[in-house]
Amino acid sequence: INYQLVHFVASYGKASQIPPSTCPEVSFVGRSNVGKSSIMNKIFNRKGLVKVSATPGKTANVNFFEADGVHFIDLPGYGFAKRSKAERDRWAKLIGDFFNLERSFNLVVSLVDIRHDPSALDHQMIEFLQEGGYPFVVALTKADKLSRSQQGRQLATIRKQLDVAADDIIVTSSESGLGIDKLKARIEQACL
Ligand code: GDP
Repeated sequence: INYQLVHFVASYGKASQIPPSTCPEVSFVGRSNVGKSSIMNKIFNRKGLVKVSATPGKTANVNFFEADGVHFIDLPGYGFAKRSKAERDRWAKLIGDFFNLERSFNLVVSLVDIRHDPSALDHQMIEFLQEGGYPFVVALTKADKLSRSQQGRQLATIRKQLDVAADDIIVTSSESGLGIDKLKARIEQACL
């Protein structure tokens, strides 16, 4: 995939507005502030393409990008503490409706902060992907904030808690670039 060819396609506030899949699709999901925009920008090597949220949890839209015939989908972040019930309900409906669409779910990249135990919402998201049989990979974010030994410990702990296979979890950092090539290889494999 030539990631340099990336461009913004469209933003949708409702799943029903999203046109049918025309190409392989890779979606990104995770709690607000987990580092979703940063990792997408790192993959594309394009600072500021995906908006790094100044106000976490503000962009409750599904944003489509395209690079070299592959769609990259930025799903709205969850778990922003200051969000109202109406906003949380809207998120749940948007995500639920999105995953109910008849489309090519080549890979879902589920982002979890490596520093903390997964939240209840992280567990729910990953159980949802596991139960629905969606191909997914967990990317542990912000690894540069931990030492190598702490990274190893957190990887083992989180993997056990989430009950995912060793091949389905990648330690990453958008800051240092750790794990980004591994994630890209996984994306490419999923889009063949
Ligand atoms: P989003 O809300 O999930 O899109 O998260 P952002 O990409 O906007 O990142 C949230 C905050 O975490 C920002 O202040 C980023 O600079 C920071 N951040 C994101 N990724 C990393 C990382 O790999 N390492 C470090 N140290 N900070 C990061």
